[in-house]
Amino acid sequence: MRISVNLRMHLPDLVSGVLSGDTRSLSRAITLVESTLPEHREQASSLIEQCIPHSGKSIRVGITGVPGVGKSTFINELGKSLITEQGRKMAVLAIDPSSGRSGGSILGDKTRMGDITALDGCFIRPSPASNSLGGVAAKTRESIILCEAAGYDTILIETVGVGQSETKVHGMVDVFLLLLLPGGGDELQGIKRGIVEMSDILVVNKADQYLERARETAKQYDMALGLMPESKAGWKTKVLMCSALSGEKVNIVWQTILDMEKVLRENGVFDQNRSDQDLSWFREFSTQLFLEKIHQRADIEQRKVELIEAIKNKKMSPTMAARALAALLE
Ligand code: GDP
Repeated sequence: MRISVNLRMHLPDLVSGVLSGDTRSLSRAITLVESTLPEHREQASSLIEQCIPHSGKSIRVGITGVPGVGKSTFINELGKSLITEQGRKMAVLAIDPSSGRSGGSILGDKTRMGDITALDGCFIRPSPASNSLGGVAAKTRESIILCEAAGYDTILIETVGVGQSETKVHGMVDVFLLLLLPGGGDELQGIKRGIVEMSDILVVNKADQYLERARETAKQYDMALGLMPESKAGWKTKVLMCSALSGEKVNIVWQTILDMEKVLRENGVFDQNRSDQDLSWFREFSTQLFLEKIHQRADIEQRKVELIEAIKNKKMSPTMAARALAALLE
């Protein structure tokens, strides 16, 4: 994805733009943190550093589900009610596994959330997931900080429930929501194993057109979940039904998100999660930086080429070669 935004902006102006809630500044700020250019790195760090004290005061919700399940319809409907009726400010960050490779886009297509895109108080931003998964995670975390600093109190992170991004997103949200189609188990629905287990709220969508099937699906998941231990301290995964198209029961899904937030805040798990997530962020990012520094060292790259040859020629085992390479750091 190419974004032609002039990033040569005075950093203090960008910071004050973000903090005042200006969406153009927020867009630019996200482009800056997503940039892979070395000259943008320092600016991006400084920007994040200045925004962090203004962040954290939102509910962060992960929303996943296979293409076609109704994620954008749901977000559109939820957004209408949260923004226009409840005066909330909602930011949608969509991690799109398709945009980098094919140039196409499964998520974050603004036309799919047509009613809310023009609303004041709504910010929608697709992010390509084509680079390394670690990179995506780091950048999405930074984008969350920026949106919160810009005054958004509801942050939705949208992913397609078929890839690996979900585990990463799970590690940066307070509540994780999975939208399901009426009928069929996980495999039939194309949902990756493990995603159901990590979800806090399961929502069978399209309960208007396929009410009986939706009921049956909800019942099956309810039974399956009954066999599982509590997902997070004090919260047992809920199974709900809704119609994103008509808007029916979308408010109940939102109320359940708030219920979970309340439970987690009261028992201290909410803050504990966020603190744990900060530590994972630190660990992942420092590992990434270490690796980058190692790859920048010419002697290591040179030795790697020699060792690869040695492995190919059966002169060295892969283990021995790896140890030989690591020995350069001693
Ligand atoms: P996404 O790919 O998960 O974002 O799914 P979309 O929101 O684009 O929806 C895919 C299709 O399902 C669209 O044609 C929607 O109109 C339709 N759809 C979404 N939610 C519902 C629903 O609750 N009921 C019915 N009948 N159709 C829905």
